[in-house]
Amino acid sequence: MNLRSVIKKLKDLFSNSLFNVKWKCLNCGKEIFEEKAFCEKCYEKLPFNDKIICAHCGRQVVAPENYCTTCKGKLTSLDCCRSFFVYEKPISTLIMRFKYGNHKYLVDYFADCLSKIYFKYYFNADFFVYVPMTAKSEKKRGYNQAKLLAEKLSQLTEVPVIQCIEKVKETKRQATLNREQRLKNLKDAFRVIDKKVVKGKSIVIVDDVTTTGATANYIAVRLKKAGAKNVSLITVASTPPIDRY
Ligand SMILES: [Zn+2]
Ligand SMILES: [Zn+2]
Repeated sequence: MNLRSVIKKLKDLFSNSLFNVKWKCLNCGKEIFEEKAFCEKCYEKLPFNDKIICAHCGRQVVAPENYCTTCKGKLTSLDCCRSFFVYEKPISTLIMRFKYGNHKYLVDYFADCLSKIYFKYYFNADFFVYVPMTAKSEKKRGYNQAKLLAEKLSQLTEVPVIQCIEKVKETKRQATLNREQRLKNLKDAFRVIDKKVVKGKSIVIVDDVTTTGATANYIAVRLKKAGAKNVSLITVASTPPIDRY
């Protein structure tokens, strides 16, 4: 092999391995040339939940007060809830794709966001649980997005997932119901599988979005009844405060 062909070979090797690696913006699909999740234009539009938040539910609030109007005077059974984004475009669109559109690859980015929240607020969990689906629903969708998130987050944080809660009854979408209907809807929907695992433990529930927060609260009630020391919630995004269920 002469020098020229050696150089050509090296060039090819480099351009294939280094200079030809392309990433695509998760939102608009535009090619980007650095290992980033979004192009600059889309990154600027991301609704980071990094301004003023409610000390309890972690939702974005307008005025600098301890609690949002929903939480003031009526805290839930959750000890602390935090989310990385406000549930607005383009994140809401991506979450919908992740949840219903089989875009499972988004788990890498979303779990990375969750790990940032986890470390930022010193959650220090003994283990994670994810919001379960009934076996029937999971089979229908093909996957449980909260499970994917919890498993990936576990790899990033080295905190195990111990799924000690299961969903035993199908529920309607919480957002479509009023307060009484919501409580009735959730009643007896979840069951702690093994109380011994839960006793005295700090548990963090993992989910994609906090909307009403009712489901996570109900799981927290169950876990605390089974003896959990504290139960918190981390989600990729949360909607701004709304009327409590
Ligand atoms: Zn973009
Ligand atoms: Zn709040």
